[in-house]
Amino acid sequence: MTEDHALWEAIGNLHRTRRDLIAQLAHVVREEGEHACSFCHAEPPDVTVLVGPGVAICDRCVELCREILSLGAQGRR
Ligand SMILES: [Zn+2]
Repeated sequence: MTEDHALWEAIGNLHRTRRDLIAQLAHVVREEGEHACSFCHAEPPDVTVLVGPGVAICDRCVELCREILSLGAQGRR
């Protein structure tokens, strides 16, 4: 196997893992959609809440985290 093949296979595995994770989270959202966000306490149907073990986060907080992380990434440049 060439290096390129190994790289593409690794990227393929990464996408599969990501898809599996998204499918699992979507499952959790459907089953436990009544949970409030652990960070801002918003509840469905105002927000979509992802529920993990012992913690939940809503789509608004995810978006806020994305902005914060992207600011952090810019600061490191
Ligand atoms: Zn929230």
